[in-house]
Parts: sequence; structure tokens; C-alpha cells
Amino acid sequence: MGLIPGTAVVTGGSRGIGKAIALKLAQLGAPVAIGYTKNTAKAEDVVAVIRENGGKAVAIQADVSHPEECEKLIKQAEEFHGPIGILVNNAGITRDGLLLRLKNEAWQDVLATNLDGVFYCIQACLRGMIKRRSGRIVNVASIVGLHGNAGQANYAAAKAGVIGLTKSAAQEVAKRGITVNAVAPGFIATDMTAALAEKIQDEYLAKIPVGRFGSPEDVATAVAFFCSAEAGYITGQVLAVDGGLAM
Ligand code: NAP
Repeated sequence: MGLIPGTAVVTGGSRGIGKAIALKLAQLGAPVAIGYTKNTAKAEDVVAVIRENGGKAVAIQADVSHPEECEKLIKQAEEFHGPIGILVNNAGITRDGLLLRLKNEAWQDVLATNLDGVFYCIQACLRGMIKRRSGRIVNVASIVGLHGNAGQANYAAAKAGVIGLTKSAAQEVAKRGITVNAVAPGFIATDMTAALAEKIQDEYLAKIPVGRFGSPEDVATAVAFFCSAEAGYITGQVLAVDGGLAM
């Protein structure tokens, strides 16, 4: 199995799932551009690991909640490594709270990063992909976007939106050699889930049929599959990577 040609852009590549995706795509031969918003040191660490292993990588600070920053991310990635073949929309945040108490700001922030950011990044690289008649777009959604979750209405709405966006984009560009798919992780061990109370973590663990939390690499493997040349007949799909949690 081999990746389609071109630069891979991974938003939120400085930590967690995005970092594992960036390392995996680089290992499979793609020059990688890692987007991030705050953690310059961590993003540069990922770049250093990829370069030490003979790969090509660059870190680009770009807050995906701003369209002009998404345009900058794509432009700089292309200047550095050449045309984009792969876009992985992974950047995401949580601002949990029960609906009655959910602040407007928490709603807006989560929608802006987790949903608007996906739209902006897709728009910024789609024209080039269409011209080249080649591309792989993978959006990192969540099983919460499929099933909802008490205390995460903002996050669930954003991730459900990502799934609708994935399927609509897939239909629009299917004839242009571009696939658009989503992965829907369950409970993956990252900074995001480490922030949850131990009791909540234990409750999740008890419900996961496979009997363990997922690793960022579990998600990266699924993303890499969607980015392969061989996956060209698979589009508009949502693949749960959740140890069976949501089946
Ligand atoms: P994480 O460890 O908290 O890392 C988040 C990443 O996103 C960081 O690289 C961060 O950059 C970046 N980021 C945050 N806001 C951004 C913005 N506005 N613009 C650009 N980059 C931004 O999260 P994770 O657990 O790896 O999650 C990655 C994705 O998987 C998210 O979309 C999340 O919703 C989804 N997901 C995670 C789980 C899970 O169990 N962990 C489950 C389902 C879905 P900085 O380092 O600069 O802050």
C-alpha cells in the first residue's frame, strides 16, 4: 500500500492524534506540514523526529478558526514541499458543559475550531486538488458526532457537522480523483482525554469491548489507509476507531 503523491498537511499535528498521523504519513513517504496553534516547541519536536528518520517536515503556526490562517497554512506548505496531495483535518478542542450552563463562547469556540476550521482548510486546498485531479481529505470526527454525548452538545454538533461536510464534499469531488472520508475515534489516550476525571475514564474503559483505550497510532493507521492510492474507491465514509465502543 502506498500514499498518493504530494504534500500532506495535518492540522493539530503537534500533539496527540495529529502527531501520530504526521509521523505515520512521513514514515510512508509523504513530506509533511504540521499545523498547530500554540505549542511551537512540541510541533518542532515532531518535525525533528521526522527529519531524523530521513523524512521531510515543516511546522506552521496557523489557527484553523481563521480562514486567512488556513489559506496561509496551505500556501506555506506548498511553498515548502510542493502541491498538497493529502489534507488531514485533525485540529480540535473541547469546552464541555451541560446545555443549561453552556456559555455562548464555549459553543462558538468549539464550532469555530472543530467545524469552521475543516471548511476553511478544505476550501484552501480544494482548487489545487481539483486541478491536479488527485487528493485525499480525511477529517477527524468522533463517535460523539454519531451518537451525541451529555455534556458535549457543542462538540457533538461540531463533529456531526464534520460528518455532513465530509459526505457533501465527497459527492462534490468524487469525479475529480479526490476522496473525502472521516475517522470517528472513540476514547483515545491523549492530552484531551487525560483532562477527564479518573472516574469518567474508568466508566469509559468498562464500556470498551476491546478492553483498552485507543492509542493515537490506532487512529493514524486508519487515516493512512484512507490516504493510500488503493483506497480510491472509498469515499464519504465514516470509520469508527473505537475498540467497539459505539457499535
Ligand atoms: P489534543 O491532544 O488536545 O491535541 C489537539 C491538537 O489540535 C494540538 O495539536 C493543538 O495545537 C491543535 N489545535 C487546537 N486548536 C487549534 C486551532 N484553533 N488551530 C490549529 N490547531 C489547533 O487532541 P487529540 O485528542 O489528539 O484530538 C485530535 C482530534 O481528534 C480532535 O479533532 C478531537 O476532537 C478528535 N478526537 C479525539 C478523541 C480522543 O479521545 N482523544 C476522540 C474523538 C475525536 P497546540 O499543540 O498548538 O495547542
